Amino acid sequence: MSKVCVIFGGSRGIGFAVANIMLEQCFKVAIVSKTSTSIDNACKILHSKAKGGASVLGYTCDITQEADINKTIAAITKDIGPIAILVNSAGINKDGLLMKTKLETIQNVLQTNLIGPMLTSKAVLKSMIQQKEGCIINIGSMVGQHGNVGQCSYSASKAGLVGFSKSLAKEVASRGIRCNVIAPGFIDTDMVQDVANRDKLEKHTLLGRFGKPEEVAQAVQYLVEATYVTGQVLTVDGGFSLNL
Ligand code: NDP
Repeated sequence: MSKVCVIFGGSRGIGFAVANIMLEQCFKVAIVSKTSTSIDNACKILHSKAKGGASVLGYTCDITQEADINKTIAAITKDIGPIAILVNSAGINKDGLLMKTKLETIQNVLQTNLIGPMLTSKAVLKSMIQQKEGCIINIGSMVGQHGNVGQCSYSASKAGLVGFSKSLAKEVASRGIRCNVIAPGFIDTDMVQDVANRDKLEKHTLLGRFGKPEEVAQAVQYLVEATYVTGQVLTVDGGFSLNL
């Protein structure tokens, strides 16, 4: 029987590419994001790709709100079954020098990128423990490991995801649940459309270009299938960080 895969941030960018690849692998996919138009648009495209036992449903949920998360996880479980795979791809970047960053902005970035994935993970754990299996994949960033000017809040949130994921991996390994992080470099999505000096950044990347969302989705697929890998950070950056 097809397993259930939930993707927070599944409406666009990397999460949308993950939804595509999971449908190809015949999962029952639930995509979740903040905006209903965004989810509706994504579902329209994804519906045509759901073949065999695969299916897709969309849900709106603000990952900064714990009650909203719990309600959404309960609804998905009721609609399509217990969740086997959780992918946390929802994220925001609000860049600027720390000196000029308001507390509210710092809190919003940490709440969305770090506390959100902690709460979605918490919400699926009981059911994964009952199933005696589960796979949680958090989309971090290479800046979580290396830092970046103007990204103090963002890189702190992504570094936090690493500590969180390694700790959770230790807490739940005995229950058959794995938790890993993917650390992408520059990936061609809405998030990087306004990035300055794109040419320079591409030249700095060993592979000479920004990555495609599908190339991060390939790494997600690998971690879903890699049943002996847990507590790891998989860098998917075209060699950018090797060249720092
Ligand atoms: P996009 O901006 O393309 O998509 C972001 C997704 O997150 C959308 O689905 C959006 O939903 C959702 N989202 C944002 N805020 C919330 C919220 N409060 N509640 C629920 N959903 C929310 O980003 P990417 O696909 O590029 O990024 C995906 C992940 O990868 C992020 O965590 C990002 O930090 C990380 N990453 C991206 C890199 C890149 O170069 N693109 C590099 C390294 C890491 P909606 O459509 O409703 O707005």
